[in-house]
Amino acid sequence: MGLKLNLVREEAVLLDPGSNFAPKKIIVEKRFDPLTGDMSRVVSFKKFQLPIVDWSQAVQRSLQNPCPFCGENLNQMTPQFPKDFIEEGRLGVGRATVVPNLSPYDRYSAVVVMAPDHYVSLEEISFDLVNDSFGAAVLFLQKCAAKDAAGAAYMTANWNYMPYSGGTLVHPHLQVLAGPSPGNYHRRCTAGAASFARQTGKDFWAELIHYEKTEGVRYLGQTGEVHWLATFAPRALCDVTAVLPARKLDELNGELMSDLTGGIINMVLFFQAVNIASFNAALFVSNQAVPGARVFLRMVARFPLIYPAGSDMSYLQVIHADPWTVWSPEYVCSMAQKFFSHSNY
Ligand SMILES: [Zn+2]
Repeated sequence: MGLKLNLVREEAVLLDPGSNFAPKKIIVEKRFDPLTGDMSRVVSFKKFQLPIVDWSQAVQRSLQNPCPFCGENLNQMTPQFPKDFIEEGRLGVGRATVVPNLSPYDRYSAVVVMAPDHYVSLEEISFDLVNDSFGAAVLFLQKCAAKDAAGAAYMTANWNYMPYSGGTLVHPHLQVLAGPSPGNYHRRCTAGAASFARQTGKDFWAELIHYEKTEGVRYLGQTGEVHWLATFAPRALCDVTAVLPARKLDELNGELMSDLTGGIINMVLFFQAVNIASFNAALFVSNQAVPGARVFLRMVARFPLIYPAGSDMSYLQVIHADPWTVWSPEYVCSMAQKFFSHSNY
C-alpha cells in the first residue's frame, strides 16, 4: 500500500433566492491530510474577495511606544542569553539578530529580529532579509542542539508577518522554539512519517513529491533542492508545503537554506499579486533521526474576513480544530505556479 490522498465531496441542497428559489446543489470538500489524517474543508464562498490592506495606521500606532527591536533600542531593551550558552549574549547573521524571547514558549525560545528596520513592506521583503533571518534561526538551533541535544529535540522557526497573522509587533521577526517534546502538529507529522515508513517501507515525503509531480495540479515547482506543493489538505488560505531533502538539523546547510529562501520569496511575490497582506510560515526540524521525517516548511496566507477588524479564524479552527479555506489547492497552484517557473531566484 502506498500513498493515498483522500477527499470526500458532500452535497448540500438549498433553494436559491438568486434563482427564484430553485433547488441548488452546493459541494463542500472534506480533504484528509495523508500524513496526519486531519480533515480540512474547502468551502464554496460565492463572493470571496481579498481587501487591499493599508498598514499605515497600524505602523503608526505601533510606534507610539518605543519598539524594542528598532535601532539602538535592541541593545538596551532586549535580553541576552546566559554567557555559558551564547557567550556574546546575542547572535548576529547579516542584519539579523537573535535575542531571547521575553515570553518563552519552550525551553529554548528566541526571537530573530530580521533587520533594524521597523516596517518592511511585502514589496521590501528581500532574499537577504529572509536568508539571513532563517540562517540566524538555524544558527541558534545549532547552539541549542550542542548544549542540550535531548532538551532541544524538536525545533521550529516561525514567522508571523503583520497583524492578521497573530504577530504582536510590526517590526519583522521570527520566533524560534526548541524543546524536548514536539508541538501537536509536529508530533502528528513525525508519528505519521514513521508509521508510513513502517507500513510501506517507503519514505512518505519522497512518495508525496513523486505523486504530486505526476499529478501536476498541486506541484508548484522546485527551488534548488526544495520542492514546493500546494498542500492537498490546506489548513488556511494559500497553504503551501516546502519539502527539503534534509532529515534533521545537522543536514541543513547554507545552500539548502538559500534554496528554501528562494521559494519563500516566490510565495511573497505571489501574495503581492493576489492582495495577501499577512502570512504565517513555520519550519519544522528534528534534532534526531526519526524514520521518514524531513525538514519541511508550511506557509499560509492570513486575511480579515471583514476588513479591517475581522479574523479568518472561526469556531471551526479554534474550537473544533477543523481547518477550512475557500480556495482549493489546485486553484492556488494554478495562480502561484508561474512564480516558480523561473530558474533563478
Ligand atoms: Zn521596530
